[in-house]
Amino acid sequence: LHVDTPLAAGQSAPLSGDQAHYLRGVLRQAPGDRLLAFNEAGGEWLGEISALSKSGGTITLLEQTRPPVAVPDAWLLFAPLKGGRTEYVVEKATELGVARLCPVLTRRGDVPRVNLDRLRANAVEAAEQCERLSVPVVDPLTDLSSLLAGWPANPLTRDRTLFVAAETGAAQPLATAVTAATASGRPAAFLVGPEGGLHPGELDQLAKTPFVVPVGLGPRILRADTAAFAVLALWQALAGD
Ligand code: SAM
Repeated sequence: LHVDTPLAAGQSAPLSGDQAHYLRGVLRQAPGDRLLAFNEAGGEWLGEISALSKSGGTITLLEQTRPPVAVPDAWLLFAPLKGGRTEYVVEKATELGVARLCPVLTRRGDVPRVNLDRLRANAVEAAEQCERLSVPVVDPLTDLSSLLAGWPANPLTRDRTLFVAAETGAAQPLATAVTAATASGRPAAFLVGPEGGLHPGELDQLAKTPFVVPVGLGPRILRADTAAFAVLALWQALAGD
């Protein structure tokens, strides 16, 4: 269970209405039952439910079961997709270990808005399910072109290599590029375009942006969500995170 409060022995942590509903209604839990609570700063703790009602509750923390771990510093920039596939990307990218998810508005993207609360809830659920101790940051939808205008000099993106999944002849194989970048110690971000692909104007801007490396994912055109999972799975395998 993800909690926001600092984790320490004897500390109590409030449960949200949704968490209380899940514990009571789905897991049939009651005061006295034990569970695991986590957050990035405190790691994972054994806790005991001390109060539980329809609208909320409290757990009391007993002992640490896992210390905090360093979060692998990789980001995914992706264009929101139709038909629930944005939520699916958030879920799978969380499982694959990204630290930050940046939905970006692209010129050929055909989904102009995201439900940020829902995406953040998807990230929490996926983190709980896969037992990672941190929840990735999910940014509000940002215009790709403005984000690139500050890359990598703005404080948010400083010193980060941006690997762009691009089906162009100039792209290097992802494995070669990521191996070199991992050796350099520079943190990484990965950009996957929308179903309609990145616009030539965006590819032009990317080509002029420092620390941008186009990478290829093989000869077939992958759907955008598949491309995101392929990139992240390979990064995870190579970076060992
Ligand atoms: N019709 C689009 C085009 O030709 O650009 C196809 C876009 S593809 C469905 C969606 C995104 O997935 C692309 O913008 C790219 O980022 C990524 N992608 C798909 N297949 C790829 C490949 N073989 N290599 C690199 N990136 C790929």
